[in-house]
Amino acid sequence: MRKPVPEFPWTALLDRLSALYGAGDWRVPYLREHAENPFQVLIGTILSQRTKDANTDRASLALFAKYPDARSLASATLPRLERLIRATGFYRTKAKNIRACARALLRDHGGKVPRSMEELLALPGVGPKTANCVLVFGYGEPAIPVDTHVHRISNRLGVLSTRTPEETEARLREILPREFWIPLNPLLVQHGQNLCRPRNPRCESCPVADICATGRARARGERTPRPEDRRRLPAM
Ligand code: SF4
Repeated sequence: MRKPVPEFPWTALLDRLSALYGAGDWRVPYLREHAENPFQVLIGTILSQRTKDANTDRASLALFAKYPDARSLASATLPRLERLIRATGFYRTKAKNIRACARALLRDHGGKVPRSMEELLALPGVGPKTANCVLVFGYGEPAIPVDTHVHRISNRLGVLSTRTPEETEARLREILPREFWIPLNPLLVQHGQNLCRPRNPRCESCPVADICATGRARARGERTPRPEDRRRLPAM
């Protein structure tokens, strides 16, 4: 039987990370009011698989300047797409996936991005993380996109002990109160890019060290409760 989860101070975690990164009040439903373009969230998230954010941003800018919607992307040539997104790595596969995705949007959804998990997962190149990103960042729907940062930091915090992002998402759905679903990803991603990096997290400068299992263990000079997960992550 699974161990019961000790009460975790989610509010304190999000308050402190919001203050650290100047993200404003995480309780304000900013994503509903200022939702990004779902098409660009969808394609941008496919491009972001297994690459750095800076590469994704550069490629997305170039791609959407030429192909801003499903109709234009569906008729692009593969060599042209490959050139535009080369910086993101795995660019041949990604070019095929984003064009196939755009064609599926045109064929099955009138060029619009669907709003249900089931329909999103049926699109080429779309896995759970991408579908969750579209729901949260494209439509402001409560979901929990779990990327490498969310997976790693959730384990370091000690709120769960999982081996893959998929397991982390399933576990977070069980234990995380719904009001925290939308703000969790952007704040943990920012934290993962700054202080809580994959190697050598800077716990001594971290404002949540006192509520983090890893931060507390390090402060006591102990080994961290769980070794860093350096396994190769599956495609998301
Ligand atoms: S205390 Fe360390 S491990 Fe915990 S969240 Fe902060 S940087 Fe990450």
